[in-house]
Amino acid sequence: MVGKRIYLDYNATAPLLPAARAAVIDALEAFNPSSVHAEGRAARRIVEDARQAVAALVNGRPEHVVFASGATEAASTLLTPDWTMGRARLRFSRAYVSAADHPSLLSGGRFPAGQVERIGVTRNGLVDLDGLERALAAHDKVRGLPLVAVHAANNETGVIQPVEEIGRLVKAVGGVLIVDAVQAAGRIPLDVSAGYADFLILSSHKIGGPKGIGAFVGASDLMMPAALVTGGGQEKGHRAGTENVAAIAGFGAAAREAATALGETATMRLMRGRIEDAIRQVLPDAVIHAEAAPRLPNTVFFTIPGMKAETAQIAFDLAGIALSAGSACSSGKVGPSHVLQAMGFDDALGALRVSIGPQTQEKEIDAFTAALESIIRRRKSASAAA
Ligand code: PLP
Repeated sequence: MVGKRIYLDYNATAPLLPAARAAVIDALEAFNPSSVHAEGRAARRIVEDARQAVAALVNGRPEHVVFASGATEAASTLLTPDWTMGRARLRFSRAYVSAADHPSLLSGGRFPAGQVERIGVTRNGLVDLDGLERALAAHDKVRGLPLVAVHAANNETGVIQPVEEIGRLVKAVGGVLIVDAVQAAGRIPLDVSAGYADFLILSSHKIGGPKGIGAFVGASDLMMPAALVTGGGQEKGHRAGTENVAAIAGFGAAAREAATALGETATMRLMRGRIEDAIRQVLPDAVIHAEAAPRLPNTVFFTIPGMKAETAQIAFDLAGIALSAGSACSSGKVGPSHVLQAMGFDDALGALRVSIGPQTQEKEIDAFTAALESIIRRRKSASAAA
């Protein structure tokens, strides 16, 4: 491999933004934000500035932002049967998740496995609204309320879910809607004050901030989940433990940039179009998944007929291009895509995911096209020789 590597795997993690890096470094020596002395107050200011920036990204209120160690922890906190409304206890008896959700929602958090129900998705990756409506109609309210958790945009396909519609169905039965907005943040506008969702979940490293920090943002703080991490009274008792000031500062800086990037997604959309044109030209029989559904401007998920996505991914990697075969698996190995399976594909070959970001350049798309052509040409000559 010659030259600089090309990174087209933003949905796994976005490159750290220079502003986020600077904010992290500046805040590394901050003191305890709970201390009342001047040093503590300075650290508190860093945390509260970041809280404002995170709230602004989703048109929320800073006092409704709770920082956690990432979106996974935020989901585990929110997916619980035990909630409070003021001093009153509130009980949710069943969680409804979408079959194409991220594992952090699919796991059902603190709900017992038997109380988690999966709602199917269509062949285009959209939540089956009729299926959800039927499940909610059959919900036994005597036992407790329904809690619904869905993603706003899928990490593998980029499919954007009709969250307003889902919110209407959930509100009609008095339930709570939690929206995993991790992949949507900075790519499509999000508005927690619009009322369709009760909570949005965010992750810093998907928008160019550091890893290991995220948040949940409420439409209000009337109803809150029982804390997952208990101990001190940090984050108003909703998440104990001394705040990770440096990571929070980096998250805040990334959130500020993500809000600006929202106005510049047209370029990304054009580049996505060029990627898809190249795929269609080189591989007329390739399947671009969920092509007909509304999708994020940065994601293309496609299957190469007759070639395992894993094999193609290695070939791209050797050509200096980082992209992924499905989602970034925590264990490092590539497993079958539960998203493709939920969409009704047999997933024998898997699919390649190209995900770009505001820093992606035209010449990188050209390099992707050239590598794709070369990989397919080599495969053709190998099969002709065999
Ligand atoms: N939700 C979605 C849609 C994601 O893509 C991810 C990360 O891959 C997560 C949640 C988990 O985020 P974190 O890494 O902050 O725990």
